[in-house]
Amino acid sequence: MATYPSAKFMECLQYAAFKHRQQRRKDPLETPYVNHVINVSTILSVEACITDEGVLMAALLHDVVEDTDASFEDVEKLFGPDVCGLVREVTDDKSLEKQERKRLQIKNAAKSSCRAKLIKLADKLDNLRDLQVNTPTGWTEERREQYFIWAKMVVDNLRGTNANLELKLDEIFRQRGLL
Ligand code: NDP
Ligand code: ZN
Repeated sequence: MATYPSAKFMECLQYAAFKHRQQRRKDPLETPYVNHVINVSTILSVEACITDEGVLMAALLHDVVEDTDASFEDVEKLFGPDVCGLVREVTDDKSLEKQERKRLQIKNAAKSSCRAKLIKLADKLDNLRDLQVNTPTGWTEERREQYFIWAKMVVDNLRGTNANLELKLDEIFRQRGLL
């Protein structure tokens, strides 16, 4: 049976591309930011075999409130309360200090819903894949290493969610000598 993206999914993709249009990733090639959110949704669909469209849509929007002028109200109005609720669960509170936000990601991971945990795992997997091939502009090797260590602490509190994603993350942690 043919599968195809829904109109709502395509609208999400379009909205994410528009909102992130001026942002770039921190890699030396300055990859458009939207590539990352597409990767996260694709990891969930292709590598984790997730068919829950709310999760795949929230993955596309997972950084849109944190990193652009979009608000939760915008997301709820356009994509409904279910997707908005997931986006809320994966959005850091930008009014807090960065170290506090990092600490809360570790602490709050275990309390997340199963669907939000999936997005968090795929987000970490894509970021760590980026970090395996590139050191972000301006980062020392030590900062890159610290990121792997921190990401493992978050992932350790997300375990028991998706075996495929956790296997792939563990392979990366093993390569870094963290497992
Ligand atoms: P940041 O939070 O500043 O940067 C990592 C985030 O940037 C990712 O989570 C991802 O966000 C986004 N990102 C954009 N481009 C890339 C890319 N190419 N590859 C990977 N991620 C990308 O990092 P930290 O501040 O956490 O730094 C790493 C570690 O180094 C920390 O543990 C910190 O303690 C330590 N450190 C931090 C310093 C600082 O000034 N902050 C200084 C020295 C050490 P998203 O999830 O939104 O996609
Ligand atoms: Zn992200």
